[in-house]
Amino acid sequence: MIVSMFSFENTYARLPDRMFARIATHPVQDPQLVVLNETLARDLGLEPERLRSPDGVAVLSGSAVPAGAEPLAQAYAGHQFGGWVPQLGDGRAMLLGEIRDPEGGYWEIQLKGSGPTPFSRQGDGRAALGPVLREYILSEAMHALGIPTTRALAAVTTGQKVLRETALPGAVLTRVAPSHLRVGTFQFFAARGDTEALGLLVDYTIARHYPGIDTAFALLQAVVAAQAKLIAQWMAVGFIHGVMNTDNTHLGGLTIDYGPCAFLDQYIPGKVYSSIDRMGRYAYDRQPQVIVWNLAQFATCLIPLIDDDSDKAVAKATGAVHEFAALFSREWLRVFRTKLGLQKAEDDDPALIAGLLALMENEGADFTNVFQALARGNARDQFLDRPAYDRWHADWQNRQGLETTSPSSRRKLMQAASPVVIARNHRVEQAIAAAYTGDFAPFHRLNKALAQPFDNKPEFADLTHPPTDEEEVHRTFCGT
Ligand code: AMP
Ligand code: MG
Repeated sequence: MIVSMFSFENTYARLPDRMFARIATHPVQDPQLVVLNETLARDLGLEPERLRSPDGVAVLSGSAVPAGAEPLAQAYAGHQFGGWVPQLGDGRAMLLGEIRDPEGGYWEIQLKGSGPTPFSRQGDGRAALGPVLREYILSEAMHALGIPTTRALAAVTTGQKVLRETALPGAVLTRVAPSHLRVGTFQFFAARGDTEALGLLVDYTIARHYPGIDTAFALLQAVVAAQAKLIAQWMAVGFIHGVMNTDNTHLGGLTIDYGPCAFLDQYIPGKVYSSIDRMGRYAYDRQPQVIVWNLAQFATCLIPLIDDDSDKAVAKATGAVHEFAALFSREWLRVFRTKLGLQKAEDDDPALIAGLLALMENEGADFTNVFQALARGNARDQFLDRPAYDRWHADWQNRQGLETTSPSSRRKLMQAASPVVIARNHRVEQAIAAAYTGDFAPFHRLNKALAQPFDNKPEFADLTHPPTDEEEVHRTFCGT
């Protein structure tokens, strides 16, 4: 069945054949639409009604190829928890092609969980409903927070079971993003000594993400800067990615591959949720270090393209990666200052922020709610050691005195930088558990609240509460 629904351009399919594998569809038994992101569909210039129709759902489940699509699985490699894997690739994802939004921007339309590909290794190419809903919730929540991310256009159940620890309902996520280029995409070709492919990828990445620059070295600098910004934004909302492998590090500086990721409830800097991260490699407070390791892998791939003299190339690449520390500190300070209503830069700001974080850490205070309460002017209630808080508060008041802005504009600044509602782990798990019983209401309600994370709406007050001891989720799973 061929369905006309998108105006595809297939620029990735025009790259040399060795960069991907062409794949066939694997029709599913009974595709049912769980959710369609209508706002996103319209932003992309798509018609929600067509996507909702049986033909549309057939496409979104990977059962039918839309007209003009050239389905493929992208090749990539990567370091997983520091260990080199020469071939990963899209083992359960299918790129249908790219479309242009009304502004001319490119969007890859990719199905995740649509069946096996030549890169599936031992996997079944499928996804269970839980991880699909998890990615839908989390990626759209990140977008609403203003943090660069891949997007979720739709989720569909397949009517088929997938075998994990138990048999679970299968589902397919439609993920869209300007690209799915990863550090691992470059690593795949660097490891094979394929400099020609690397050159093509440099041009492709620049055209898609960084128009205006023109060298591999400039690309490296741009990716370092984009990641510094991204990780600072993660830190500012308490986000833990959980699997920062090089294949999950996006070259456009987007958050990608939502597996065991989670938001902090209590502020515990070394917090790890992921069941597979036993050593805490990807703990909350290690993210700024681990990304440097990933960027160093990217830099290594680019060496042959930076300078014919490899010593010079190494020196330049090393310098670019070392820039991360300064770029990250600047971004981190900027976002945390904003969370305190501060726009000027003062020498004591790092100490002021560190002082607050130390108080929060001592008491295991709720990360989101402390900043939210600071913005609303009632943070004292969030702390047990009131005298310690009062001392910090006095310092903060003094520091605010150096600003030229009004108290109300500072409050606005803070409220726009610190969300009221985040995708708390226990709420995500509750929404998924309900969905497994056929009740999608909590899933839809959570998405609705997360779409306006900075609004303080009484009807969503329950979603702002930290988990009770019984509700707390201690471990998250990739669920692949
Ligand atoms: P991830 O940990 O989700 O980033 O995935 C790492 C690698 O495993 C990628 O190459 C995925 O395509 C592959 N993979 C994950 N789950 C499956 C699955 N169910 N079937 C086939 N490949 C998979
Ligand atoms: Mg991945």
